[in-house]
Amino acid sequence: MFEVVIGLEVHVQLNTKTKLFCSCPTSFNHKQNVNTCPTCLALPGALPVFNKEVLHKSIMFGTAIDATINEVSYFDRKSYFYPDSPSAYQITQLYTPVVEHGKLTIDFEDGSNKTIRINRAHIEADAGKNIHDGDISKVDLNRAGTPLLEIVSEPDMRSADEAILYLKKLHSIIRYLDIGDANMQEGSFRVDVNVSIRPKGDEKLYTRVEIKNINSFKFIQKAIEVEVARQIDAWEDGIYDDEIVQETRLFDQVKQETRSMRGKEEAADYRYFPEPDLLKVVATKEMLEKYSQIPELPDAKKERFINEYKMNEYNASVITSSVEMANFFETMMSLEGVTPKTATSLLTVEFLGRLKGEQTLTNSLVDALKLGKLAQRVDDKTISGKAAKEVLDYLMENEADVDDVIEKLGLKQVTDTGAIEVMCDEVINANPEKVEQYQGGKEKLFGFFVGQVMKASKGSANPQVVNEILKAKLG
Ligand code: ADP
Ligand code: MG
Ligand code: ZN
Repeated sequence: MFEVVIGLEVHVQLNTKTKLFCSCPTSFNHKQNVNTCPTCLALPGALPVFNKEVLHKSIMFGTAIDATINEVSYFDRKSYFYPDSPSAYQITQLYTPVVEHGKLTIDFEDGSNKTIRINRAHIEADAGKNIHDGDISKVDLNRAGTPLLEIVSEPDMRSADEAILYLKKLHSIIRYLDIGDANMQEGSFRVDVNVSIRPKGDEKLYTRVEIKNINSFKFIQKAIEVEVARQIDAWEDGIYDDEIVQETRLFDQVKQETRSMRGKEEAADYRYFPEPDLLKVVATKEMLEKYSQIPELPDAKKERFINEYKMNEYNASVITSSVEMANFFETMMSLEGVTPKTATSLLTVEFLGRLKGEQTLTNSLVDALKLGKLAQRVDDKTISGKAAKEVLDYLMENEADVDDVIEKLGLKQVTDTGAIEVMCDEVINANPEKVEQYQGGKEKLFGFFVGQVMKASKGSANPQVVNEILKAKLG
């Protein structure tokens, strides 16, 4: 029996306004090489100046993962030759990173959890992009010098599922802190997966393979599964030592296999040395105080939702899974009279269930205030829960006001007791035998009377009021 061992390196693009060592904007630009200057083009004589916003965001991250934040950290040079790096080296933090020894908790469906240790998070500069276009290759340096936080876990994960839970949690923390967009498709949350296997019970680490450039959780899961299968096959066929070497591999989404990309560089290949053009990075006491005041994180928010709104664990997990959804919910709750129960079901069941195609929580015609108002109309009994679905169907397709739609579709509930009383009398008078049976002890018939009145009102009577009046009249 084998055990899977996984360690993850995640490159998060920090959402600072300007680049790491120059004042070029980090904003995306369709036109190539416009967000550049002598520093990020690495022209001779240009000198880097550290952007403190990067340190602020690193402190926030370090706080979120309960890590040590080094008051003094340093930059190092990592040499490599590739056209997307005009300086032929990358500025990174090898020896003393800004953040060390953190941890993150992943939660399993059965309610148990596990702590994954984070070895370090260090600051480094991103490279540009090579664009291969037929016979020619082009280089776009708009991204060169964009700040990255590389977050390196310990090899603590034991399955593809655990790796995905870790990544989703990390992703959500970045979004909650708002220190990066963490958009996998756009490359602002890039994952390198290190995978090895070992006989169960063995404590030693075996040869690891690094899989690069996988841009969705689904493909990461698949890549781990096929790589683990390859390693186990090699072991069982007695060719493990020949087949499994420390190297970088690519995941082929079409063939569903990993392929060798290049042999693993040793640290010596990079000829690391301390960066001579930059000062040490100093996190002052004031900075540490200020930036350790971070927003409420997913776990804390979930706990609060369970207590404050009496939500079950499942709903609390769904709603706090993204900061956008949590904010959406709390905006709904900020409207007077909205109950958590109505807000939860309208949001998680009805609204999410109606999003289709390109629609998301934040770009559909229904925003949090509108859905909140709909919840309000359910909770103040203007409309029934069933009618709310009809109103929502309409609102998803049309720019309209909630009350106007209720009016237009004629969905207002009748709560006027006088009108309901008349309907109850009619039903009672039309069914004298049933009344006799009911009063003789056949209590099951109560539902029949309610049904008849609801039918008479074409579903618009408030069921609670109908119940009360019938109880009183039938005795
Ligand atoms: P390097 O600096 O050469 O990239 P590290 O020791 O920093 O190597 O490890 C990089 C990543 O690989 C870390 O996330 C670590 O947890 C993971 N890792 C190291 N050894 C193994 C192994 N045998 N199996 C799986 N992951 C591993
Ligand atoms: Mg590495
Ligand atoms: Zn620049």
